[in-house]
Formats: sequence, C-alpha cells, structure tokens
Amino acid sequence: MTDDFDFDTRAVRAGTLRSEFNEHSEALFLTSSFVFKSAAQAAARFSGDEPGFVYSRFTNPTVQMFEQRLASLEGAEDCLATASGMAAILAVCLAGLRTGDHVICSANVFGATVQLFTNLERFGIETTFVRGADPESWRAAVRPRTKMLFCETPSNPLMEIVDLEAFAQLGRRIGALSVVDNCFCTPALQRPLAFGIDAVIHSATKYIDGQGRVMGGAVLGARSLIRDAVLPVLRTTGPSLSAFNAWVLLKGLETLSLRLRAQSATASALARWLEAHAGIERVYFSELESHPQRELARRQQTGPGAVVSFDLKATSAAADLRARAWRVIDNTRLMSITANLGDTRTTITHPASTTHGRLTPEARARAGIGEGLIRIAVGLEALEDLKGDLEHALAG
Ligand SMILES: *Cc1c(COP(=O)(O)O)cnc(C)c1O
Repeated sequence: MTDDFDFDTRAVRAGTLRSEFNEHSEALFLTSSFVFKSAAQAAARFSGDEPGFVYSRFTNPTVQMFEQRLASLEGAEDCLATASGMAAILAVCLAGLRTGDHVICSANVFGATVQLFTNLERFGIETTFVRGADPESWRAAVRPRTKMLFCETPSNPLMEIVDLEAFAQLGRRIGALSVVDNCFCTPALQRPLAFGIDAVIHSATKYIDGQGRVMGGAVLGARSLIRDAVLPVLRTTGPSLSAFNAWVLLKGLETLSLRLRAQSATASALARWLEAHAGIERVYFSELESHPQRELARRQQTGPGAVVSFDLKATSAAADLRARAWRVIDNTRLMSITANLGDTRTTITHPASTTHGRLTPEARARAGIGEGLIRIAVGLEALEDLKGDLEHALAG
C-alpha cells in the first residue's frame, strides 16, 4: 500500500495480506512452521534466495501484517516485531553494539531500560546517563567508542522533551546509532525517523494495543539496519511476537489515532483543571504555558499525549507528603491503581514508590521525582467523571 494515503487510512489498511479465501478481516495464522512444495524450495526459503514463510520464530503472515502496518505509520522502511518492548531494546543493543562500545542514554528512561543498560556492563559495554533535555550534557558525554544514543521523549513521568533533530545530528556526527523509544507518543503523535533518527523502538504493550491485553514490541528503521543487523539477532535469540498477539495489536493500530486524539484531549482539559486547583503545586504536561519546552514539543509532536503528572502542594515534611499522595490515590474510586499506561481505563500511580522506587532518594531528587508527585495516564472515560474522581480524591 502506498504512503500517499492519509495516516488514518493506512492505520486500517496498510500491510493487509489476504489468503486464498479472501477474508476481509486479517487472518490469524496459528502455525509454527510452513510446508514447502519440494526439498529444493525448502532450501531456497532457508537460504533466503526465495522470499516466503519458513518458521514462526522469524516469519509469520499475521506478524508480518503488523510489522508492515506499523512501518507504514512510522514512515519506516522496515520493521521487526518482538515479544515485548524490552525485547525490542535488547535486540537493537545486540544488533548495534559490541564489547568495548559506549552508550549515552537519558537518565529519565523506563526503569527496566536503565537496568538493561546497566547490565550490559557485564559484557563490557558502558553506559553514561545524561540529562535528556540538555543537549550539552549529551555532547559532554561523547567518547571515542560511543556507538549508541538512546532516549525517550516525552519522558516519564515529568514530560521532559529531547530535541530530536539535535539528537539525530549528534548521532550522525559521531557515527553512533540514534535510538528513540516512541512509546508515549506513538506514530499517531510523533515520527522520530522524520527528524533523522536511525531507529525507533516500541513497547506495543502500551498505546498500540491500547486496551491492556497483550505484550509486544517493535524495532523500526532503514531496511539495512532491520534486515542485516536486527533480523539475525531475532532469528537466533527468539524473542518473537506470537501470531495471536500480533493479531490483537493489528486491531489496536486501527483505532490508535482515534484513541490518542480523544485521550490527549481529555488529558489536556484535565491538566488545565489540575493547574488551577488550590491543592496542586505544579502540573507536568507539554501543552501548558508553564512547560519550559512547550515550543519544542509543538515542533516535534502533533499532540501532547495522554500522561499528566502533578505535584501536591508541599505544606509538610517529605514522609507526610508521601502519605498524602497515597491518600489521594486511595481516595480515587474510578481510576485504576496501577503503574501501567496506554489503556482505555485511566490509571494512577505514585512514581516515587513504584516505577522509580528502586532509585536512591538522592537519585530520585536529582531526577525531580518528589514524594508528592502523582502520575495519571488518561483513558477514554468521560472528562467530567475523571474530574469528579480527582476532586473527591484531592478533598479527601
Ligand atoms: C513499558 C515500557 C517499556 C517496556 O515495554 P514492555 O512491553 O513492558 O517490555 C519500554 N519503554 C517504555 C517507555 C515503556 O513505558
């Protein structure tokens, strides 16, 4: 399917592969292997001389439909799906790094991502963590063997923005692979490859599924990177996406931009309402005039996304502030208390004791994650109901 069609059209039609039965909805191919007409064909498929399906660890029609649809939406030449977001990050690391190489990563990435890069030290790959929103801190960390730059933008939970163009330029200048985790925006709101980024990774578990059902991930980029470097890793290490999960995620892509538009609009109204609330010190949301990188966010995102974080007013000691934040969370009646995000159901969490609970108090303070910070990932419920829930929780 050509890229001339609009995003919304490609979201429901790109990548469709019909079988001999001409089914309208995408078929679910639950098969581990594929049969060949002859021994010669088997040999040609295995060697790659003949295109076609071989074995579902690395080729499956349902998974391929998902990969091609997502590639179309991200504006990528190619895509490979993985079993989870972390599998996608590991695959890109194994594809692009070797012992002795150095990685620069923004400090405010997903917790498991920090753990993964820290664990790579065992294999002789060192990572320097820098302040993502400050381009100078990236430049200052460069070493002769810096081979990968990794970031998330906007960041979780404080919505800090990395300048994608500067990030891509630095990668090109020093010969390092620039990688962006595009989980929070999805291609519906931000397409990093258009800014010159080399590779995008996704946790499809979040907004791409969008309904909290299955795990999944993806790596996207130029065909040479995906086919020559990432595919051999996936083929031999095996973190493949199951056909069933791919089928669920294909359906998720069909409503991705509708959901993100609706969820962003509700998040935006909620952020403004929270900012005017007497019990709240500060709201983190890139669309607000108070966001220091509002202009940059507008240049590279077509919407703010659906995650809103806020600090309670610090009227007392830190321990007491944590107790108050927990009380606000416990007093909600509608929102789900869970650290997951990207669901149709609004979720609420206390980052300092959950997603960022394993950091030392000093590291948390440096990252700007206070005891009074609460994060909400806005779902598809009615704005008035969410406001009512927070109003009651904040008063309680
Ligand atoms: C959840 C998440 C991941 C990891 O994805 P899984 O599918 O849980 O493995 C990576 N990055 C971000 C930003 C996430 O939110």
